[in-house]
Amino acid sequence: MTLRRWTILSVILLVPGFVLQFLSRTVFVPEAGVIGGLLLAAGLAIQLFVIRCPECGAHLPLFPGEYCKYCGNRLDWDKPLRR
Ligand SMILES: [Zn+2]
Repeated sequence: MTLRRWTILSVILLVPGFVLQFLSRTVFVPEAGVIGGLLLAAGLAIQLFVIRCPECGAHLPLFPGEYCKYCGNRLDWDKPLRR
């Protein structure tokens, strides 16, 4: 998995998560809130624990651009992450 794929995966989890949370508050569908909450939690966990600067380990915001703003390292979005 590359940084780009992790970012895409987290967005794929976060967007329907937000939609389901919103639906559960407007229409009476309590299950949507639970599923939405799980999707949001999974998306946020990827954001917090996986999407980090490979050089300094700093947390990167969503769509951080080409360079890490903490250490200036050029972020390679297509390089597989080493764990
Ligand atoms: Zn960095």
